[in-house]
Amino acid sequence: MNKVFCLFLLLFTSIAVNSKEIAITFDDAPLPDSNLYSGEQRTQKLITALKKLNVPDVFFFITTNNITNKTQKRVEAYAEAGFYLGNHSHQHLFPHQKGIETYLQGITEAHKQLSHFDNLVPFYRYPYLDEGKDKKTRDRIRQHLQELNYNNGYVTVDNFDWYMDALLQKALADGNKINYEALKSAYIDILWGSILFYDELAQKSIGRSPKHILLLHENDIAALFVGDLIEHIRMQGWKVISPKDAYEDPIAINVPDVLFNGQGRVAAIAKSKGWDEKYLRNQGSNKAYLDKYFDAKNVFEK
Ligand SMILES: [Zn+2]
Repeated sequence: MNKVFCLFLLLFTSIAVNSKEIAITFDDAPLPDSNLYSGEQRTQKLITALKKLNVPDVFFFITTNNITNKTQKRVEAYAEAGFYLGNHSHQHLFPHQKGIETYLQGITEAHKQLSHFDNLVPFYRYPYLDEGKDKKTRDRIRQHLQELNYNNGYVTVDNFDWYMDALLQKALADGNKINYEALKSAYIDILWGSILFYDELAQKSIGRSPKHILLLHENDIAALFVGDLIEHIRMQGWKVISPKDAYEDPIAINVPDVLFNGQGRVAAIAKSKGWDEKYLRNQGSNKAYLDKYFDAKNVFEK
């Protein structure tokens, strides 16, 4: 074989093997002002980063109790920028927290408050990815969603981005010096690790790499680094796709009969196939691990 042909073959093979796809979603929007950004600044930073990188689309899952006269404009800004809005309940409750009836009302209430948006998509993101502690509760919620013609806005890549943001907020509150380059590396490394973890789990338990859905939150750390994260994902040969496209994957209708849903759809399917739960949670979804990781990288100078 000549060298050029060899190179072509190698390139073609690597493209075929690396045809990985992932969509991006943001929960809990619109979150209030924080120690770093006002809500308006955060929204503008997120929109600017996503537009600059020509991200085809993202979903913002809205917790309607976070909508006030002041934050309403930010929800409108996401819709006007062409992004889609999903339902993340009204009060962000666990199903067991205030009883099932209150929980179901929260889904309906959020739907009512969002229904005037043309960009509302019928996807419900469970707060805490918690579908209930027993099958009766789980099935009641599923039935309610069906009655509202909603789909489950499941994720495939769970992670603790919210905890990384909490560490940032604490450092800001404590007046600690922040090494933003180290923080960026940590955010990208941890999230990329979680993507690879769930992709590998999918390949082992489902036999293929599905169209992934990454769970992020509408927080400061995303506003700071989501652009860098997307560039990193693309540099690894992955494609960032629309969540609408990702939810067309066959795993959207592969709903396993388990109560283990808190680590996302891939982990739930693996659990239904007999996998031990200890193999279904990524190390980055662990507060102690992240504390140590941030310390080792000197993200915050005390
Ligand atoms: Zn949430």
